[in-house]
Amino acid sequence: MSRIFNFSAGPAMLPAEVLSRAGDEILDWHGSGMSVMEMSHRGKEFVGIAAEAEKDLRELLSVPQNYKVLLLQGGATLQFAQVPMNLLHGKGGADYVSTGEWSKKAIKEAKAFCDVHIAASSEDKNFSYAPKHWNVRKDAAYVHYCSNETIGGVEFHSVPAAPVPIVADASSHFLSRPIEIAKFGLIYAGAQKNVGPAGLTIVIVREDLLGNVAKSTPSVMDYKLQAEADSMLNTPPTYSMYIAGLVFKWLKALGGVPEIEKRNVAKAKLLYDFLDATKFYGNPVAKEDRSRMNVPFTLRDAKLDEPFLKGAAERGMVQLKGHRSVGGMRASIYNAMPREGVQRLVDYMKEFEKRHG
Ligand SMILES: *Cc1c(COP(=O)(O)O)cnc(C)c1O
Repeated sequence: MSRIFNFSAGPAMLPAEVLSRAGDEILDWHGSGMSVMEMSHRGKEFVGIAAEAEKDLRELLSVPQNYKVLLLQGGATLQFAQVPMNLLHGKGGADYVSTGEWSKKAIKEAKAFCDVHIAASSEDKNFSYAPKHWNVRKDAAYVHYCSNETIGGVEFHSVPAAPVPIVADASSHFLSRPIEIAKFGLIYAGAQKNVGPAGLTIVIVREDLLGNVAKSTPSVMDYKLQAEADSMLNTPPTYSMYIAGLVFKWLKALGGVPEIEKRNVAKAKLLYDFLDATKFYGNPVAKEDRSRMNVPFTLRDAKLDEPFLKGAAERGMVQLKGHRSVGGMRASIYNAMPREGVQRLVDYMKEFEKRHG
């Protein structure tokens, strides 16, 4: 068996140990005679799996008691609508920070529900930095931002101040670094970037923000009803939750979020140090706002893109093509990407430059 280094932005690599354990347990989970896929979500086995996953996640991120952890469906994209439906609380407006493709999508969706005011934007420099001074309306229901722009490769390395609850789309750097949950009203993340398989969305929300949802909000989209039902108002994405639970165990065993952060810093440094030392490749993002998870880069001549990708595939590295909206290359180096994968990429980039530079 050979595992390839998959630099996909999502669905992305999962730890080999997790997949292998899931493989061992696929026909018979812990002597139950069943696959987790076959279990009733109301049965004691699965209820235990879900409770343990939540407990481990709370522990990994030190989630305060006054926050609910919800395990939902619909992806981060559904949260673009679900957030205003739940958090407007009858107010007419919400503020948004615009830093790239994903925040633009969130803004577009929110406009169907309320008046949207742009509190900060990096559009003036083609979304290549993270604006830290936000002009948030005091009567806004909340302010929303994307804390790691997956496509542009721009990450907020601290949480800016705001006079209203802060909502973050943390999809592509969730669990890659410690976060101070208490600074947020709500954080959400689709699982397929850094947590587990697609189909699961994690929402961490402060209790006092629950309830008073917009009229005609479907019950499965009402955070309060989901919280009261332990996220099982209807059948949850059971298998994705189980795999996420194994990923949480894997993270705990290797030393938790501070340890994975150390590794992520080292991996990103390897790649950015090389990018800084060459003129053959470029990265447009302001140095202090570079993402540790998603590293976009361009080759000096776009004609070399195809040969670059072909050579990478021959060396066991795939999914390096940049997002269709920006072109170039992108290496997504989430928690499960080993350091050796990044090293192999850098070695190949050097070799390619020698041949074509
Ligand atoms: C991938 C991604 C999304 C969309 O996730 P879906 O699960 O496809 O809805 C939204 N925001 C960010 C930052 C992402 O990286």
